[in-house]
Amino acid sequence: MEKWKDWGFFDDDGTEIDPDLIAKPDLCVSCKKDDDPGEEILCMMTRADQVGEEPFRCEAFEPMP
Ligand code: SF4
Repeated sequence: MEKWKDWGFFDDDGTEIDPDLIAKPDLCVSCKKDDDPGEEILCMMTRADQVGEEPFRCEAFEPMP
């Protein structure tokens, strides 16, 4: 994707993480910030930071009304 071209996410070993390959956690599907363009970068950073970790945790989670 063009919008990720000038920066990226990296794991602790310095390997770049492709945001398109990060699965969306179940918690995000029930969060009102999911698919909010203004939250996209922060959400992706939160997901990228927890790749391979269970359970997924997010202090910014807000349940759907
Ligand atoms: S705020 Fe957290 S729980 Fe909500 S969509 Fe973003 S990463 Fe997922």
